[in-house]
Amino acid sequence: MTLRQRYDGVIAWFSEHMPVAESELHYENPFQLLVAVILSAQCTDKRVNMTTPALFAAFPTPEAMAAATPEEIFPYIRSISYPNNKAKNLAGMARMLCAEFGGEVPTDLEAMQRLPGVGRKTANVLGAVLWQREVMPVDTHVFRVSERIGLTTGSKTPLQTERTLERNIPSHLLPIAHHWLILHGRYVCMARSPRCGECGIAPWCRKYAADRRAEAREAASAPAGTADGSDMKSAAKAGTKASRAGKTTTAGTSASRAGKTSSAGARKKTTLAPAASAPVEGPERS
Ligand code: SF4
Repeated sequence: MTLRQRYDGVIAWFSEHMPVAESELHYENPFQLLVAVILSAQCTDKRVNMTTPALFAAFPTPEAMAAATPEEIFPYIRSISYPNNKAKNLAGMARMLCAEFGGEVPTDLEAMQRLPGVGRKTANVLGAVLWQREVMPVDTHVFRVSERIGLTTGSKTPLQTERTLERNIPSHLLPIAHHWLILHGRYVCMARSPRCGECGIAPWCRKYAADRRAEAREAASAPAGTADGSDMKSAAKAGTKASRAGKTTTAGTSASRAGKTSSAGARKKTTLAPAASAPVEGPERS
Protein backbone atom coordinates (compact mmCIF):
# COMPACT_ATOMS: atom_id res chain seq x y z
CA MET A 1 0.00 0.00 0.00
CA THR A 2 1.36 3.41 -0.83
CA LEU A 3 1.28 6.26 1.61
CA ARG A 4 -1.23 8.01 -0.64
CA GLN A 5 -3.53 5.00 -0.59
CA ARG A 6 -3.31 4.90 3.19
CA TYR A 7 -4.19 8.56 3.55
CA ASP A 8 -6.98 8.31 0.99
CA GLY A 9 -8.50 5.29 2.71
CA VAL A 10 -8.39 6.83 6.17
CA ILE A 11 -9.74 10.19 4.99
CA ALA A 12 -12.55 8.53 3.02
CA TRP A 13 -13.55 6.41 6.00
CA PHE A 14 -13.66 9.30 8.43
CA SER A 15 -15.40 11.57 5.91
CA GLU A 16 -18.18 9.02 5.55
CA HIS A 17 -18.50 7.85 9.13
CA MET A 18 -17.60 10.93 11.12
CA PRO A 19 -18.77 13.82 8.94
CA VAL A 20 -19.04 16.09 11.96
CA ALA A 21 -16.44 16.08 14.71
CA GLU A 22 -15.94 18.81 17.26
CA SER A 23 -14.04 19.69 20.40
CA GLU A 24 -15.30 18.04 23.56
CA LEU A 25 -14.36 21.06 25.64
CA HIS A 26 -17.26 23.21 26.80
CA TYR A 27 -16.99 26.92 26.01
CA GLU A 28 -19.11 29.84 24.94
CA ASN A 29 -16.59 32.28 23.53
CA PRO A 30 -12.93 32.43 22.38
CA PHE A 31 -11.72 33.48 25.84
CA GLN A 32 -13.36 30.48 27.48
CA LEU A 33 -11.97 28.12 24.85
CA LEU A 34 -8.50 29.56 25.38
CA VAL A 35 -8.79 29.00 29.13
CA ALA A 36 -10.12 25.47 28.62
CA VAL A 37 -7.34 24.50 26.20
CA ILE A 38 -4.67 25.84 28.55
CA LEU A 39 -6.19 23.77 31.35
CA SER A 40 -6.43 20.65 29.15
CA ALA A 41 -2.66 20.22 28.83
CA GLN A 42 -1.92 16.76 30.26
CA CYS A 43 -5.45 16.58 31.61
CA THR A 44 -8.65 15.06 30.25
CA ASP A 45 -11.32 17.20 28.63
CA LYS A 46 -13.82 15.58 30.98
CA ARG A 47 -11.95 16.83 34.03
CA VAL A 48 -11.59 20.31 32.50
CA ASN A 49 -15.33 20.42 31.80
CA MET A 50 -16.04 19.60 35.44
CA THR A 51 -13.89 22.54 36.50
CA THR A 52 -14.64 25.35 34.11
CA PRO A 53 -18.28 26.18 35.03
CA ALA A 54 -17.26 27.50 38.46
CA LEU A 55 -14.10 29.10 37.08
CA PHE A 56 -16.01 30.92 34.34
CA ALA A 57 -18.66 32.01 36.83
CA ALA A 58 -15.99 33.52 39.07
CA PHE A 59 -13.97 35.05 36.22
CA PRO A 60 -16.38 35.57 33.32
CA THR A 61 -14.19 37.96 31.32
CA PRO A 62 -10.49 38.53 30.60
CA GLU A 63 -10.73 41.67 32.73
CA ALA A 64 -12.11 39.76 35.71
CA MET A 65 -9.41 37.11 35.43
CA ALA A 66 -6.71 39.75 34.91
CA ALA A 67 -7.70 41.34 38.22
CA ALA A 68 -7.21 38.02 40.04
CA THR A 69 -4.02 36.64 41.52
CA PRO A 70 -2.87 33.09 40.79
CA GLU A 71 -3.71 32.29 44.42
CA GLU A 72 -7.30 33.39 43.80
CA ILE A 73 -7.57 31.27 40.65
CA PHE A 74 -5.91 28.19 42.15
CA PRO A 75 -8.87 26.90 44.24
CA TYR A 76 -11.03 26.66 41.12
CA ILE A 77 -8.54 24.49 39.23
CA ARG A 78 -6.93 22.53 42.06
CA SER A 79 -8.28 19.21 40.75
CA ILE A 80 -6.55 19.71 37.40
CA SER A 81 -3.00 18.61 36.68
CA TYR A 82 -0.30 21.22 37.43
CA PRO A 83 -2.71 23.67 39.08
CA ASN A 84 0.01 26.02 40.36
CA ASN A 85 1.56 26.58 36.96
CA LYS A 86 -1.78 26.79 35.24
CA ALA A 87 -3.11 29.34 37.75
CA LYS A 88 -0.05 31.50 37.08
CA ASN A 89 -0.48 31.10 33.33
CA LEU A 90 -4.17 31.99 33.42
CA ALA A 91 -3.54 35.15 35.45
CA GLY A 92 -0.64 36.14 33.17
CA MET A 93 -2.56 35.29 30.01
CA ALA A 94 -5.57 37.38 31.06
CA ARG A 95 -3.36 40.33 31.96
CA MET A 96 -1.55 40.28 28.64
CA LEU A 97 -4.83 39.81 26.81
CA CYS A 98 -6.15 43.00 28.42
CA ALA A 99 -2.91 45.00 28.24
CA GLU A 100 -1.87 44.15 24.69
CA PHE A 101 -4.86 42.75 22.81
CA GLY A 102 -7.75 44.87 24.04
CA GLY A 103 -9.25 41.94 25.94
CA GLU A 104 -9.76 39.94 22.71
CA VAL A 105 -8.16 36.61 21.84
CA PRO A 106 -5.86 37.47 18.92
CA THR A 107 -6.67 35.80 15.62
CA ASP A 108 -2.99 35.90 14.67
CA LEU A 109 -1.75 32.49 15.79
CA GLU A 110 1.86 33.65 16.10
CA ALA A 111 0.83 36.58 18.30
CA MET A 112 -1.33 34.26 20.39
CA GLN A 113 1.74 32.23 21.29
CA ARG A 114 3.14 35.19 23.21
CA LEU A 115 0.46 34.64 25.85
CA PRO A 116 1.61 32.74 28.95
CA GLY A 117 0.61 29.08 28.76
CA VAL A 118 -0.03 29.21 25.02
CA GLY A 119 2.19 27.19 22.72
CA ARG A 120 1.95 26.13 19.12
CA LYS A 121 -0.57 23.34 19.75
CA THR A 122 -2.90 25.54 21.78
CA ALA A 123 -2.80 28.33 19.20
CA ASN A 124 -3.48 25.82 16.42
CA VAL A 125 -6.41 24.33 18.34
CA LEU A 126 -8.01 27.75 18.63
CA GLY A 127 -7.25 28.49 14.99
CA ALA A 128 -8.82 25.23 13.80
CA VAL A 129 -11.81 25.24 16.15
CA LEU A 130 -12.75 28.92 16.13
CA TRP A 131 -11.76 30.06 12.68
CA GLN A 132 -11.38 26.86 10.64
CA ARG A 133 -7.75 27.67 9.97
CA GLU A 134 -6.00 25.08 7.84
CA VAL A 135 -3.64 23.93 10.59
CA MET A 136 -3.07 20.62 12.36
CA PRO A 137 -2.73 20.81 16.14
CA VAL A 138 -0.79 17.76 17.31
CA ASP A 139 -1.53 16.50 20.80
CA THR A 140 -0.58 13.17 22.33
CA HIS A 141 -3.44 11.31 20.60
CA VAL A 142 -2.71 12.74 17.16
CA PHE A 143 1.00 12.02 17.58
CA ARG A 144 0.47 8.39 18.66
CA VAL A 145 -2.34 7.49 16.27
CA SER A 146 -0.62 8.99 13.23
CA GLU A 147 2.45 6.85 13.81
CA ARG A 148 0.47 3.67 14.46
CA ILE A 149 -1.71 4.01 11.41
CA GLY A 150 1.31 4.84 9.29
CA LEU A 151 0.37 8.40 8.44
CA THR A 152 3.80 9.31 9.79
CA THR A 153 6.94 7.20 9.96
CA GLY A 154 9.52 7.62 12.68
CA SER A 155 8.21 11.02 13.67
CA LYS A 156 10.23 12.35 16.58
CA THR A 157 8.39 15.54 17.44
CA PRO A 158 4.86 16.96 17.27
CA LEU A 159 6.12 19.52 14.76
CA GLN A 160 7.37 16.75 12.45
CA THR A 161 3.98 15.05 12.69
CA GLU A 162 2.21 18.34 12.07
CA ARG A 163 4.24 19.00 8.91
CA THR A 164 3.70 15.49 7.54
CA LEU A 165 -0.03 15.54 8.16
CA GLU A 166 -0.33 19.02 6.64
CA ARG A 167 1.49 17.81 3.53
CA ASN A 168 -0.74 14.82 3.02
CA ILE A 169 -4.22 15.86 4.14
CA PRO A 170 -6.14 18.26 1.90
CA SER A 171 -5.95 21.69 3.49
CA HIS A 172 -9.69 22.20 3.80
CA LEU A 173 -9.95 18.96 5.81
CA LEU A 174 -7.22 19.77 8.34
CA PRO A 175 -9.52 21.34 10.97
CA ILE A 176 -11.81 18.31 11.06
CA ALA A 177 -8.99 15.77 10.59
CA HIS A 178 -7.54 17.03 13.84
CA HIS A 179 -10.75 16.01 15.62
CA TRP A 180 -10.95 12.68 13.76
CA LEU A 181 -7.53 11.66 15.01
CA ILE A 182 -8.08 12.92 18.55
CA LEU A 183 -11.42 11.15 18.94
CA HIS A 184 -10.05 8.00 17.34
CA GLY A 185 -7.14 8.00 19.76
CA ARG A 186 -9.38 8.71 22.71
CA TYR A 187 -12.08 6.09 22.10
CA VAL A 188 -10.75 3.44 19.68
CA CYS A 189 -6.98 3.49 19.25
CA MET A 190 -6.18 3.93 22.93
CA ALA A 191 -2.56 4.02 24.03
CA ARG A 192 -2.49 0.75 25.97
CA SER A 193 -5.22 -1.33 24.42
CA PRO A 194 -6.26 -0.27 20.94
CA ARG A 195 -9.56 -1.82 19.88
CA CYS A 196 -8.27 -3.09 16.56
CA GLY A 197 -11.04 -5.67 16.14
CA GLU A 198 -13.62 -2.90 16.12
CA CYS A 199 -11.66 -0.31 14.19
CA GLY A 200 -13.08 1.00 10.94
CA ILE A 201 -9.75 2.11 9.54
CA ALA A 202 -8.01 -1.21 10.19
CA PRO A 203 -7.77 -1.95 6.45
CA TRP A 204 -5.42 1.02 6.06
CA CYS A 205 -3.57 0.72 9.37
CA ARG A 206 0.13 -0.15 9.35
CA LYS A 207 0.07 -1.63 12.84
CA TYR A 208 -2.97 -3.76 12.05
CA ALA A 209 -1.27 -5.18 8.96
CA ALA A 210 1.97 -5.79 10.85
CA ASP A 211 0.11 -7.61 13.64
CA ARG A 212 -1.70 -9.83 11.11
CA ARG A 213 1.60 -10.68 9.39
CA ALA A 214 3.14 -11.58 12.73
CA GLU A 215 0.18 -13.82 13.51
CA ALA A 216 0.44 -15.51 10.14
CA ARG A 217 4.14 -16.15 10.68
CA GLU A 218 3.43 -17.57 14.11
CA ALA A 219 0.72 -19.84 12.74
CA ALA A 220 2.96 -21.01 9.87
CA SER A 221 5.82 -21.90 12.19
CA ALA A 222 3.63 -23.80 14.68
CA PRO A 223 3.94 -27.59 14.38
CA ALA A 224 0.80 -29.11 12.89
CA GLY A 225 -1.38 -31.36 15.01
CA THR A 226 0.57 -31.03 18.21
CA ALA A 227 -0.57 -33.12 21.08
CA ASP A 228 -1.71 -30.19 23.14
CA GLY A 229 -4.02 -29.08 20.36
CA SER A 230 -2.18 -25.82 19.73
CA ASP A 231 -3.12 -25.97 16.05
CA MET A 232 -6.75 -25.96 17.00
CA LYS A 233 -6.17 -23.11 19.40
CA SER A 234 -4.58 -21.06 16.62
CA ALA A 235 -7.45 -21.74 14.29
CA ALA A 236 -9.94 -20.77 16.95
CA LYS A 237 -7.99 -17.57 17.61
CA ALA A 238 -7.91 -16.66 13.93
CA GLY A 239 -11.60 -17.41 13.62
CA THR A 240 -12.39 -15.16 16.52
CA LYS A 241 -10.36 -12.34 15.04
CA ALA A 242 -11.96 -12.77 11.63
CA SER A 243 -15.40 -12.64 13.11
CA ARG A 244 -14.44 -9.58 15.12
CA ALA A 245 -13.16 -7.89 12.01
CA GLY A 246 -16.37 -8.66 10.19
CA LYS A 247 -18.75 -7.38 12.82
CA THR A 248 -20.32 -4.00 13.00
CA THR A 249 -17.65 -1.60 14.05
CA THR A 250 -18.05 0.77 16.92
CA ALA A 251 -15.22 2.96 15.78
CA GLY A 252 -17.46 5.67 14.47
CA THR A 253 -19.89 5.38 17.30
CA SER A 254 -17.26 5.22 19.99
CA ALA A 255 -15.38 8.15 18.69
CA SER A 256 -18.55 10.07 18.41
CA ARG A 257 -19.37 9.59 22.02
CA ALA A 258 -17.69 12.92 21.82
CA GLY A 259 -20.38 13.23 19.34
CA LYS A 260 -22.60 13.77 22.30
CA THR A 261 -21.23 17.24 21.92
CA SER A 262 -20.56 16.78 18.25
CA SER A 263 -23.40 15.51 16.15
CA ALA A 264 -25.84 12.76 15.59
CA GLY A 265 -24.28 12.30 12.19
CA ALA A 266 -21.09 11.18 13.79
CA ARG A 267 -22.95 8.38 15.53
CA LYS A 268 -23.79 6.63 12.31
CA LYS A 269 -23.25 2.87 12.61
CA THR A 270 -20.93 1.40 10.09
CA THR A 271 -19.73 -1.94 8.94
CA LEU A 272 -16.04 -2.56 8.93
CA ALA A 273 -14.79 -3.91 5.68
CA PRO A 274 -13.61 -7.47 6.34
CA ALA A 275 -9.87 -7.66 6.70
CA ALA A 276 -9.78 -9.84 3.58
CA SER A 277 -10.94 -6.91 1.48
CA ALA A 278 -8.18 -4.64 2.67
CA PRO A 279 -5.62 -3.49 0.13
CA VAL A 280 -2.60 -5.73 0.08
CA GLU A 281 0.01 -4.41 2.48
CA GLY A 282 3.39 -3.85 0.98
CA PRO A 283 6.37 -1.61 1.38
CA GLU A 284 5.70 2.12 1.40
CA ARG A 285 6.44 3.78 -1.90
CA SER A 286 6.14 7.34 -0.81
S1 SF4 B 1 -6.38 -1.00 13.69
FE1 SF4 B 1 -5.76 -0.84 15.85
S2 SF4 B 1 -3.78 0.22 15.83
FE2 SF4 B 1 -4.76 0.55 13.84
S3 SF4 B 1 -5.84 2.51 14.06
FE3 SF4 B 1 -7.30 0.88 14.50
S4 SF4 B 1 -7.22 0.63 16.72
FE4 SF4 B 1 -5.37 1.77 16.12
